[in-house]
Amino acid sequence: MAKAKTKAKTKAKAKTKARNIFLVLLICSIGGIGVSWGWNTYGNEMPGVSGFTGEDSPLDPSPKLTVMLNGSDVSQTCSAHYEEGQIYVSALPLLEQLGVAVLAPSPSASSSSKTLWAVTKDHELHHSLGTTQISLDGKTLTLEYPSILEGDNVYVPPSFFEIISAGQLSQEIDEINMNLAVLVESSRLQALNDKKNTPYFHADHLFRYADYVKKNPDLNMEKVIIYVNANLDKPFYTDVSVIVQPEDILVLCNKYNQFPDGYVPKDLKNVGSGFLLRAEAAEAYQKMTQAAAEHGVFFRLRSAYRSYREQQGLYTNAVARQGTSQADLYSARPGYSEHHSGLAIDVTIPTNVSGSLASVRFENTPQFAWFQQHAHEYGFVLRYPSDKVSVTGYAYEPWHYRYVGTDTAKTLHAQELTLEEYFAMEQGE
Ligand SMILES: [Zn+2]
Repeated sequence: MAKAKTKAKTKAKAKTKARNIFLVLLICSIGGIGVSWGWNTYGNEMPGVSGFTGEDSPLDPSPKLTVMLNGSDVSQTCSAHYEEGQIYVSALPLLEQLGVAVLAPSPSASSSSKTLWAVTKDHELHHSLGTTQISLDGKTLTLEYPSILEGDNVYVPPSFFEIISAGQLSQEIDEINMNLAVLVESSRLQALNDKKNTPYFHADHLFRYADYVKKNPDLNMEKVIIYVNANLDKPFYTDVSVIVQPEDILVLCNKYNQFPDGYVPKDLKNVGSGFLLRAEAAEAYQKMTQAAAEHGVFFRLRSAYRSYREQQGLYTNAVARQGTSQADLYSARPGYSEHHSGLAIDVTIPTNVSGSLASVRFENTPQFAWFQQHAHEYGFVLRYPSDKVSVTGYAYEPWHYRYVGTDTAKTLHAQELTLEEYFAMEQGE
């Protein structure tokens, strides 16, 4: 019966609306009693609405319904309607207003898979549309009458919110205080849900995952989680953190993480021609150079440690030449350069004395081939690979290597991971 009603509803929508389904959300008076229901107080205070009889309602022509939420009147945003003696409130705007991430099927999803999934940090609610069944944190609860899906909105009996409130979802909602409603395909929703036990699924990022899913419908869920963990849902150079342990060999320096003001590594060593690297990286670099030479492969440095001021000069010039967006692809802003760490090198072939790296086409040289095969054995990794531009924020740089130590370098090499992805796959607490 409930399902038949749901289906019939869509077809009859225009007609019923015009006739007398009161899409009214104003002030309702029933025999002088103000009808309102509040987030935390709804329940006993709800008057007997079942006494209404649709178009024959004694309140016709202007029954008014106030929807109160935490003491404020949200009737304007949250349409409620009254049909066949029952009150329905649109669930999505209310949940959104409460800061619950709502993941529901798109209107085009098949009717058999229409589920509303509402989530907060610690709670999760599933509801099959058109039924009375609700599952809150695994517990099954029942609405007094079935919900209705109409267009892309979901109409539920007010008791829906009572149930949520009883489940203490509301307290948490107050804390989260975020607004987001996301509509995605059920299969995507399920895929995100299936990833909940992934060690690096951070519940704190739930809203961001959901939003990223919506914006990147073709990205697999593993990548959604990793990329959001890596902050890639935020534009580069926004929400920047100052690096807490700049001297850490595994320091992550990128467009979200900058070196503290005035940071200069303490253990810089000259590795020849005035190029400086931190002691551990310098030693590894010397070993690597030696090993390459033994195989008849020779290369030289074009750059190693760069101070803030040097980087500032390079970046300023790049912007003047190419404009900001192009410069940002190839040049780090001062404070954000890996060269600032004293752990990064730019290499080139020895015969190229003054030409630009781009003109050398380093990726076509035997030196590059050797680096591809052996750099990780000495703790160096290709930092800006061609297929990870969207992750690193930098164009392909076949000449730029970063020292991370041999263990990590081997892992990154074997799993084809960038440092961004590596850290994004760290386990949550
Ligand atoms: Zn470089």
